[in-house]
Amino acid sequence: MTFEEFNINEKLLEAISYMHFEKASPIQEQAIPVAMEGHDVLACAQTGTGKTATFLIPILEDLVQNGAHGFTSLIVVPTRELAIQIDQELQGFSYFTDTTSKAVYGGDKGMDWDDQKRAFTEGTNVIVATPGRLIAHLRLGYVKCNNIRHLVLDEADRMLDMGFIDDIRQILGYIPKKRQTMMFSATMAPEIRKLANSILVNPQMISIAIAKPAEGVKQAAYMVHPYQKINLITHILAQNPDYDSILIFTSTKKLINSIVHSIRKTIQGIEVEGISSDFEQNEREDVLLRFKAKQTKILVATDVLSRGIDIKGINLVINFDVPRDAADYVHRVGRTARADAKGEAITFISEADIPKFVRIESLIEKSVEKLPLPAELGEAPVWKTPAEQSKKKRFYGKRSNGKRRFFKKNSRKENPRKGNTNQ
Ligand code: AMP
Repeated sequence: MTFEEFNINEKLLEAISYMHFEKASPIQEQAIPVAMEGHDVLACAQTGTGKTATFLIPILEDLVQNGAHGFTSLIVVPTRELAIQIDQELQGFSYFTDTTSKAVYGGDKGMDWDDQKRAFTEGTNVIVATPGRLIAHLRLGYVKCNNIRHLVLDEADRMLDMGFIDDIRQILGYIPKKRQTMMFSATMAPEIRKLANSILVNPQMISIAIAKPAEGVKQAAYMVHPYQKINLITHILAQNPDYDSILIFTSTKKLINSIVHSIRKTIQGIEVEGISSDFEQNEREDVLLRFKAKQTKILVATDVLSRGIDIKGINLVINFDVPRDAADYVHRVGRTARADAKGEAITFISEADIPKFVRIESLIEKSVEKLPLPAELGEAPVWKTPAEQSKKKRFYGKRSNGKRRFFKKNSRKENPRKGNTNQ
């Protein structure tokens, strides 16, 4: 389906064509017409599906057709990176219109606060904001919310994970009840449905497959002991000399520096940098810019970057550890193979990470190939699912000396009290 078929105005169509969007993606095809009719929308879609344009185009179409007076549209997102990125896409789409927009997020200097305040007091049309900073402005009383007619909650599952639910409820208290609300989430966990039920009115449900990595991503994993991980990175890089853009994810901020230093020490002359939420905002932007420009070959990041951040041409994502939340795996892996391209994702699984990876495989409904660890790195731990492990031993209680006692599942003799444990 082409964008002309949506019956949107010329100014938007021109911008869309400048952005090289030719055909609508599946979520755009399903959700844009419904949203343009003014319905509330509840969409289950991961990043990389084109969901940003799905809510931006109907909002801009309404503002161009029906006029925009002051603050009309609020987009709430979990992270500042996502706020900046959505605002950039918004500026692209609205280039030939009079619509104004501003990204509002925290963690920066007083000057930015003043700019944000000015955006509110001067009646900027579309605000893309993170919850905490938005509330800080709302509480000061100068934000006029009575014209708001569009509300978008993007990455709603992430916002709940990050503990923003109370903030979101507070924000809702400031916004007119009569409005169009669109909610996007990669997963539809019960809490998301509960939130949706309480804020959406007769929403149109749109589901773009369950959260699964895009088709173009080649996924693989290594069973590996923690001390073998850096050498394994060296091995992978040696095998793929053409790769010029590699993203390494780790769950812990603390590990970032040590990974960066170990790679620098092991591979002479390699351009590697780290990024985490501890960095100052402008530092984060500089690091991202250098990575986007391919001046940095390897970027080591926490999950802050895994959601929504759109960097084209990443050849390889390495999960230095297995993310706690299975949906984060999909987001991390989704950083490669954006929009129909090909990419590779390799996960390092230590013995302790096996249960988390089993949950991931069940979420993506796929068993990820476990590659043999190169012999020179030593012996790898064995991949054994919790189900396979429990076939071997079962825990029945403590001995009188306080130690745990295990019985083989099939051994009746060894467990006289319970009889046949197979029953
Ligand atoms: P999103 O899921 O909104 O983060 O979009 C992922 C990437 O796909 C972004 O770089 C978008 O600019 C791009 N994109 C979204 N929709 C289209 C489309 N219909 N045609 C081409 N690129 C698109």
